Amino acid sequence: MTEQSGQGQTLDNLLTESRTFPPSDEFARQANAKAELYEQADADREAFWAEQAGKLSWETSWDQVLDWTNPPFAKWFIGGKLNVAYNCVDRHVEAGNGDRVAIHWEGEPGDGRTITYAELQREVSKAANALLSLGLAAGDRVAIYMPMLPEAIFSMLACARLGLTHSVVFGGFSAEALRSRIDDAQAKLVITADGQYRRGKPAPLKAAVDEAVEKTPSVEHVLVVRRTESEVEWSDGRDLWWHDVVDGQSDEHTPEAFDAEHPLFILYTSGTTGKPKGILHTSGGYLTQTAYTHRNVFDVKPESDVYWCTADIGWVTGHSYIVYGPLANGVTEVVYEGTPNTPHEGRHWEIVQKYGVTVYYTAPTLIRTFMKWGADIPAKFDLSSLRVLGSVGEPINPEAWIWYRETIGAGKIPVVDTWWQTETGAIMISPLPGVTAAKPGSAQRALPGISAKIVDEKGDEVAKGGGGYLVLDQPWPSMLRGIWGDEERYKETYWSRFAEQGYYFAGDGAKYDADGDMWLLGRVDDVMNVSGHRISTTEVESALVSHPTVAEAAVVGATDPTTGQGIVAFVILRGGVAEDEAKGEKAIKALRDHVAKEIGPIAKPRQIMVVPELPKTRSGKIMRRLLRDVAENREIGDVTTLADSSVMDLISEGMKGSS
Ligand code: ATP
Ligand code: MG
Repeated sequence: MTEQSGQGQTLDNLLTESRTFPPSDEFARQANAKAELYEQADADREAFWAEQAGKLSWETSWDQVLDWTNPPFAKWFIGGKLNVAYNCVDRHVEAGNGDRVAIHWEGEPGDGRTITYAELQREVSKAANALLSLGLAAGDRVAIYMPMLPEAIFSMLACARLGLTHSVVFGGFSAEALRSRIDDAQAKLVITADGQYRRGKPAPLKAAVDEAVEKTPSVEHVLVVRRTESEVEWSDGRDLWWHDVVDGQSDEHTPEAFDAEHPLFILYTSGTTGKPKGILHTSGGYLTQTAYTHRNVFDVKPESDVYWCTADIGWVTGHSYIVYGPLANGVTEVVYEGTPNTPHEGRHWEIVQKYGVTVYYTAPTLIRTFMKWGADIPAKFDLSSLRVLGSVGEPINPEAWIWYRETIGAGKIPVVDTWWQTETGAIMISPLPGVTAAKPGSAQRALPGISAKIVDEKGDEVAKGGGGYLVLDQPWPSMLRGIWGDEERYKETYWSRFAEQGYYFAGDGAKYDADGDMWLLGRVDDVMNVSGHRISTTEVESALVSHPTVAEAAVVGATDPTTGQGIVAFVILRGGVAEDEAKGEKAIKALRDHVAKEIGPIAKPRQIMVVPELPKTRSGKIMRRLLRDVAENREIGDVTTLADSSVMDLISEGMKGSS
């Protein structure tokens, strides 16, 4: 089956979750977004987006908000010109906020750096002047292969400032993954570091660049930030130290405005469902929607909030909600270099306490990891500064949502579950924290200005209570403008499934509840078919996670001679649960029965395996396709975006010993 082709019928709708959590009156009163925002957007979508775009600073205003005469190729804010970096940096300084902290950077070994907006302006200007001195010009591509260092952000903004298109590649990816991305973009420059700190130790980074650029003739220079002071190979003429090239530059640079549709970056998807796609984003619409969603979904107040998004900049969440959205809004944010359990499992909570973090945005995988480590760890820290919690990346299981709100959010602050994709550029479906009565596990409804629907295989909207395919039926400002260098794949992947209706097919399954709120049910490709029932992996996983012994679960459908597919579950136990006890036959039976009780006997897993880890992408998503390969005894597919490839060996080993 192709990556997002979908299958025959709509989903069976099984799990029910009916708890709701409205915002407190106090929160609702002070919220940036009120309920009227929906009405305002519905009354005139284009006028609404024009108003949002107007909150940015444009050198030349647009003549037309949207051109959708040549779908699926959209243009937004036609004729408008702006400089993205000016909007994220200089204009805050010009508004008198140069002394405000932009970034509290926290290094993994405990070092740190506080960067004000005025300093950010100087650093970005120096970096921009350095890139100019290397002969780069608007339209050129730059690959950024960096750990979470301030220089990574300076580099992205310097590119944006000069109209260079950046392609950020995860610092954890292999030389081969880097090579193919450099090659795809024909990048002229690679920005990297000598090494990076991971789990308390310096790890090499530049070596992978050396290997990659041997086979990428487009690369003229490699610019290297010194971080770990490790020994590196050096190619004279090609390799340049950041401190040699950037530090001596003038800290003034006058930005030039670029067209609203000027390419801002290329970024590859996580590779959860197949070979990663190089997604292209442009400037005006992208910045409009990232700033708008950041302001309203996280309710940020630039004067008082300390915002922290824990993503890596190599992931779209890092682009939109560490770099462009927050900085466009002029907020103070925390950027953390390292791993969450270095030097101890309370590191995140220690950072929240240290900087007084008010808004915290992370992924379900990490929340479930925190559950596994135990609630006593966050309990040791003062988390009372927090006022909004966010989740992104995968469906959040209701139990993990409740744990997050109770344990991290003191049982009273809003949790926003934000659905979006690399392709959408910014958040699309999410509660508004001061408006929505939140439901654990549901992203609920499209944001004001955005339109999403759940349809059946014919493209007709399903009724309340029904399940099917998630589609976006209206263009949106931060939508992808294509797959880099592959127009056909763009049309085929996203627009062919519902070509007749002209809908964007997201590749995700979803259902409406009785109120018409949306619940994301995982990838359409992951949907299982058991004796003719179409069952979502998410629902079975959520049922497993609702058992007190289970921290994480991944479920796949494996070929079964009697039922078509049988459900195979892989589970990780919560901290404090004794392995022998929970692995025993009785415990496994109890888990299977628990699923049957939660969602029905049809969803009872055929087999449950207790595993130490699950295969995840570097962005923290479970790669079910690899588990399906294991469960069906196939050769394991593309693992290039896997965080830790030894995980698959562990699981395969365990699999041999069971069943
Ligand atoms: P690839 O497209 O290469 O297979 P990927 O889809 O994992 O990788 P991303 O763009 O990083 O790459 O992830 C987007 C996907 O993540 C969505 O399509 C959806 O499946 C999932 N997702 C993100 N946020 C949520 C959420 N809040 N609830 C449910 N699913 C989510
Ligand atoms: Mg995807």
